[in-house]
Amino acid sequence: MSASPLSLVREDLRAFAGYKSARTEVVDGAVWLNANESPWANPADEAGAVRRYPDPQPAALRARLAALYGCTPAQLLAGRGSDEGIDLLVRALCRPGGDGIVVTTPTFGMYAVCARLHGVPVADVPLVEGADGFRCDLDAVREAALAAGAKIVFLCSPGNPTGATLPRDGVLALARALDGRALVVVDEAYAEFADAASFVADIAAQRNLAVLRTLSKAHALAAARLGVVIADAELIAVLQRCQAPYPLPTPCVRLVEAGLDDASLEATRARIADVCVERERLADALSHAPGVRRAYASQANFVLARFADPQRAFDALLAAGIVVRDMRHLPQLGDALRITVGTPEQNARVVDVLRAAALRGAA
Ligand SMILES: *Cc1c(COP(=O)(O)O)cnc(C)c1O
Repeated sequence: MSASPLSLVREDLRAFAGYKSARTEVVDGAVWLNANESPWANPADEAGAVRRYPDPQPAALRARLAALYGCTPAQLLAGRGSDEGIDLLVRALCRPGGDGIVVTTPTFGMYAVCARLHGVPVADVPLVEGADGFRCDLDAVREAALAAGAKIVFLCSPGNPTGATLPRDGVLALARALDGRALVVVDEAYAEFADAASFVADIAAQRNLAVLRTLSKAHALAAARLGVVIADAELIAVLQRCQAPYPLPTPCVRLVEAGLDDASLEATRARIADVCVERERLADALSHAPGVRRAYASQANFVLARFADPQRAFDALLAAGIVVRDMRHLPQLGDALRITVGTPEQNARVVDVLRAAALRGAA
C-alpha cells in the first residue's frame, strides 16, 4: 500500500489553515455585508457578475474538469494555469533553503524557476539522446532524488521541448521506489496530442504521483489561465490552503465552462486530430528539408528540429513574419528551434521559407 503524501508536505505547513477569506465559510444569506464589496455594480458590469469576490473553487467547474480528466473533484485543484500548480507544489513540499527538486533537461523552464524563487536546490538528470530521440534515464532520476533528498521529481510527458512520451512502467516503478520520499509529478500539458494513456488513473493506487493538466494548449484557452493539479485528495486540500484566496476570476470561469461544454469539446477534439495529422506532415517535411539536421518525432503540438545554420533559419523565418521558439540556450540544444504546429498554410510556409533559406546559404 502506498503511503499518504501528507508526510511529504513541509512539516510547518501540515496543520496550516491558510487565509480565512469571506468565501471560506459556506453560509447562506440574502444580504452580504461581510467582505467590504460594493453594493452597486460597476457601469461596465451591468449584470453585476463581478461585483462580489468569486468562489475559490466553483463546484460545477471542478466537477466538469474532474470528468474531463477522469478523477474525482476532491483529487483536483484548479488554478491560474499549471504554472500556479508547479509553484504551489514547490512551496507546499519544499522548505526554502532545503529539500530540493529533480528536473530532466532539456525541459520546461518553470520547474527550476519556481524552485529558485523559493530558494530550493535543483538537481538535473539530463535526458539522453539516442537513435529514437530523447530518453529519460529513470534509474538515474531515482538515484539523484534519493541522493539529494529531493521532495519533488518533475517529469514532462509528452516532453517540452522534446515531444517524447515517458514509458508508463518506468514512471510507475519510479513512483513506487520514491514512495514516502518524493512526489513524482507528470506534467501532461500536451497529453491531448499523444497516444499514451494519462497517469491520472494511477494516482488512487500510487499516492505520491501527481499530474498537471492545462486548458492553455489543446483547448485554446491560454489567456483564461486555467490549469489543474490532480493528486491525492489529502494533498490537494493542503495545496488549496496554500493558494491565493480567490484564484479564479469569474469571467475566466464562465468562459472555461462554455469552452468545455459538449459542443466546444467536440470541436476541440476535431482540432486536436487535425493538429496531429499536420504535426506528422510538418515533421516529415522538415526531416527532408535542406539545412535540417534532425527533426524529432513528436507526440505534442510542436516539432523540435536541429539546423545546420540555426541563426539563418531563425532569421529567415522572422523576416517572413514567422516567430518560432529559439531553443539554443537549453542544454544539448545549441542548434535547435521549436516550431508549433500551425494551420496547414502556416506549416507549408515554414517549410518553404526554410528550404529557400538553406538553398540560398548553399549557393
Ligand atoms: C505551456 C506549458 C505549461 C503551462 O501551462 P499553463 O497552464 O498555461 O500555465 C506547463 N507545462 C508545460 C510543459 C508547458 O509546455
